[in-house]
Amino acid sequence: SHPNLNLRTLEQSDKLKNVCYEIRGPVHEHAARMEAEGHRILKLNIGNPALFGFEAPDVIMRDMIHALPFSQGYSDSMGVLPARRAIVTRYETIEDFPYFDVDDVLLGNGVSELITMTMQALLNDGDEVLIPSPDYPLWTAMTALSGGTPVHYRCDEDNDWNPSLEDIREKITSRTKAIVVINPNNPTGAVYSPEVLKGIVDIAREYSLLILADEIYDKILYDDAVHTSIASLAPDMLVLTFNGLSKAYRVCGYRAGWVVITGPKGHATGFIEGLRTLASTRLCSNVPGQHAIQVALGGYQSIDALCAPGGRLHEQRTVTVDKLNEIPGVSCVTPMGALYAFPRLDPNVHEIHDDEKFVQDLLLQEKILVVQGSGFNLPDTAHFRIVTLPWAQDLAEAIDRIGNFLSSYRQ
Ligand code: PLP
Repeated sequence: SHPNLNLRTLEQSDKLKNVCYEIRGPVHEHAARMEAEGHRILKLNIGNPALFGFEAPDVIMRDMIHALPFSQGYSDSMGVLPARRAIVTRYETIEDFPYFDVDDVLLGNGVSELITMTMQALLNDGDEVLIPSPDYPLWTAMTALSGGTPVHYRCDEDNDWNPSLEDIREKITSRTKAIVVINPNNPTGAVYSPEVLKGIVDIAREYSLLILADEIYDKILYDDAVHTSIASLAPDMLVLTFNGLSKAYRVCGYRAGWVVITGPKGHATGFIEGLRTLASTRLCSNVPGQHAIQVALGGYQSIDALCAPGGRLHEQRTVTVDKLNEIPGVSCVTPMGALYAFPRLDPNVHEIHDDEKFVQDLLLQEKILVVQGSGFNLPDTAHFRIVTLPWAQDLAEAIDRIGNFLSSYRQ
């Protein structure tokens, strides 16, 4: 309404060239438009428990409401002390987890902000970071945004999606600074054994790599899966362990996450100082969310019941895998943790050259939204990720519809 021909075109910055996050990418936006037009979309794309009737434990909400009057001001940049103290206590109960103090804990607006800050504090242009493929794509995106070069190591589907130690070794160069380990893994649901983790630690030790451990799903385990924190196997290495309330406590909207720093720090004072500087530049993380941490970590842990046989998450995981494996030309490694399944479409049966188009076509025809495998930095187009959060009945119906769709789908 006010034509002004002198306005300069605004492109996104060059820094964003290699930054992508398909979980909320163009297809997600398309789904939002369809919803605005009145369509009902089944959103199997985002690990947001609140969308599917998972309620946070009552005590968390009550405590947070109680703390609201005291949460009006900025807090310490590192986070409020009772929360950091509760985090220290939490890890004291984990066997062999190295000792650390409240000064080694930094709270953030979810793990997401802490990943961003860590990469910004760590990387110079061209520094390389080893990241799993497939990965939770924020790690790749933030490495790239920070000027670093993401280098992906292969996780092997034929070996329950375990990281290939040979591939990790082959990808190390003189510029490799850190290795990211996501365990339990998103998107594959793999839970790594102590032997695999020791293999990674040995390589990190040999090449003096910083270990970045994303363990946000460490309490979401199925069947006989046992979680091992990689830091507990590497007391002589600098390890940053990331976790938070988003998944196990079902309050991802509160944006409450933490990172704990363990191991020797003398060689890394500059980096840690940088992290503290970045923490102070953003003043503090969401203070009401910080106050949810102490109560969440104490007392009864309701996630255990949801993951145990007969529990809602367990049942949904099992139905998802069983139903996916029933579809001709589809196979799915059973997830042992986390909230996702990551099935494979046999290229001899389902020829998919463009997996983003596949996801888009599925959305248009079936009103089901999933995420393409290439969105997780996987170099093939034969996978997609589905969240296991809806009720088992809804998942079963959705997967039947995906099966029908696939039976006549050609690219
Ligand atoms: N890391 C992994 C592996 C995730 O799956 C997610 C969210 O899905 C995050 C980190 C970010 O979590 P938040 O920022 O809510 O703590």
